[in-house]
Amino acid sequence: MINNRMTFENLCLRNEPLANHSSYQIGGEANFFAMPETAEELITLLQGCRTHGLDYFFCGMGSNLLFPDNPRKDTLYISLKRLVYWDITPDKWFISSGTPMSMLSIAGLMYNIPGYEFTYLLPGGLGAGIYMNAKYNHRQISDIIKTVYYVDLEDPSLSVQSIDVSQCKYGYKQSIFQMNPWLILGADMLAVPEQLDPQQANRLLSRWKDKEGMSSLSSFYSYMAEEAKALQSRGIHLPAPMTQIEEYRNGKRHFEYPSCGSVFKNNYDYGVPVGALVDRLELKGKAYGGAMISPFHGNMIINTDHATAEHIKYLMNVIMEGVDKAFGFVPEPEVVVVE
Ligand SMILES: Cc1cc2nc3c(=O)[nH]c(=O)nc-3n(C[C@H](O)[C@H](O)[C@H](O)COP(=O)(O)OP(=O)(O)OC[C@H]3O[C@@H](n4cnc5c(N)ncnc54)[C@H](O)[C@@H]3O)c2cc1C
Repeated sequence: MINNRMTFENLCLRNEPLANHSSYQIGGEANFFAMPETAEELITLLQGCRTHGLDYFFCGMGSNLLFPDNPRKDTLYISLKRLVYWDITPDKWFISSGTPMSMLSIAGLMYNIPGYEFTYLLPGGLGAGIYMNAKYNHRQISDIIKTVYYVDLEDPSLSVQSIDVSQCKYGYKQSIFQMNPWLILGADMLAVPEQLDPQQANRLLSRWKDKEGMSSLSSFYSYMAEEAKALQSRGIHLPAPMTQIEEYRNGKRHFEYPSCGSVFKNNYDYGVPVGALVDRLELKGKAYGGAMISPFHGNMIINTDHATAEHIKYLMNVIMEGVDKAFGFVPEPEVVVVE
């Protein structure tokens, strides 16, 4: 039987608001947008871009980027948030890019694998987590993966390649993937569950896929909190690091307003977090258009009322100029500003 989805035209949505695919809920209509569900669909899209002379931009859940108000007409925006599957053998646990990182904390409890707690309520897919080296406190994605699978977009064959985590040039929010046109498909995890019931795993993934690839932070929070509650009803209790994460993130109102989390990377040479410097400058609560520097966390800019990308960028400049003038350095954006 012919798979009708498997043509470039059928895989592309037209005039799709990027705001629907960004945790900021910001972004104009994309002329071309796609959410492939398999590696084959992804390759079809890449080949179609070559045939039609289109550029492409990849994203996951859109929780660390700022889409433009006027997207480029000749670009296909590809979200990998529906590329959700696991490949499980006795000595290998492959997790695809679209799998939410936070699901690893749930799976860690289900399969008795310690060390994944830090991913609880961390927005975004594993692919971007590998790309950004997403972290919480002292734990980061590079601590828990073994081999990353990717496609080198400059390779005419678009074949799948792999790289060991030791070669990935990982640092604070840095990786080799930020230096190369490589599209991450997923990774083998360092730990492999001793007993993983494939049907139970499929049910977990299906429940997420049924949500149609959500990017809204409040829905993301409700979904993950429900999964955690379901575990508790089966006698699996949330360990302290996970309840502390929930308290911390709720305290900073992470899921109440659309945002991208921290806007700037911390400057460890300076030694004081950007949020604390913004606090010292008394910029918390400063608003412009529909955007505001969060009153709850100085390193977050929230969308309070139909903010545009320009409103967010304006407040980013206010922070960069203020920190430069008062403390002598310009903070480096963590958010990916898509032009
Ligand atoms: C409320 C809130 C709290 C947050 N807290 C934290 C935190 O504690 N720690 C932390 O590290 N981050 C945090 N973040 C930021 C965000 O969760 C991470 O950066 C996450 O890795 C982004 O995942 P995503 O799927 O949404 O990526 P996107 O925002 O969609 O993409 C981010 C970047 O990754 C690239 N990318 C995405 N997928 C791929 C792929 N498969 N291959 C190659 N490149 C790819 C994109 O091109 C883009 O440059 C927070 C965000 C929010 C909204």
